[in-house]
Amino acid sequence: MSETTKKPRTRPTKRPVRPTARRMAAADVAPFIAALATANPAPETELVYADAFQLLVAVVLSAQTTDAAVNKATPALFKAAPTPAAMAALGEAGIAPFIRSIGLWQAKAKNVAALAARLVADHGGAVPSDRAALEALPGVGRKTANVVLNVAFGEATMAVDTHIFRLGNRTGLAPGRTTRAVEDGLVARIPPRYLRDAHHWLILHGRYVCKARTPECWRCVAREWCRYIRKTPAPAEKPQPRNGR
Ligand code: SF4
Repeated sequence: MSETTKKPRTRPTKRPVRPTARRMAAADVAPFIAALATANPAPETELVYADAFQLLVAVVLSAQTTDAAVNKATPALFKAAPTPAAMAALGEAGIAPFIRSIGLWQAKAKNVAALAARLVADHGGAVPSDRAALEALPGVGRKTANVVLNVAFGEATMAVDTHIFRLGNRTGLAPGRTTRAVEDGLVARIPPRYLRDAHHWLILHGRYVCKARTPECWRCVAREWCRYIRKTPAPAEKPQPRNGR
């Protein structure tokens, strides 16, 4: 075969990434959220706390672990140090034994001691209610600040954790490659009347129904408006035992 008759070399083609969801229509966003709201009219955080300081500490401790694990550790910690001054006095070495059952406990003990000291030194022992001051505290990022602003101060913020990031993309509600993109999409698309509680509705929905590995679409109250392409069918019914056994 001469050079001129050789077939052109073809590059291996990349397999196209198949989207898992189409973008939810704007008109479907309100009914999607309303369905979650109807199923759970008074949603609350599952973290146990008595005031804004304890909420802040609980949220810092909850990074990369479950609320249930945090709730096991915090009663004894808050009994020993219920206020920023007491927590600062307890210090990193004193906090550590209370939270050893929680992931990343060493870094968290350090951060909780430092943020308590900062609250005493810079804020008169109170938790500040503005984002910049919150995010300046040790161990506090945008997500933690959003939770505190929402739960303690009633602001319509959207804290994007792993569940909300997954839901924003999977359902087509607010697709985005970063947590900030999903946050901005949700804030822009969810009607203001739902926005404050939407954070809880979405987290709880992701935790108990729209689960990471297998979403339980067959029992999802919002499936009519969800744009996930591969909705999970109901599990096949178990075969009935013969002879009534
Ligand atoms: S459980 Fe299924 S139907 Fe419901 S929001 Fe999640 S992916 Fe959509």
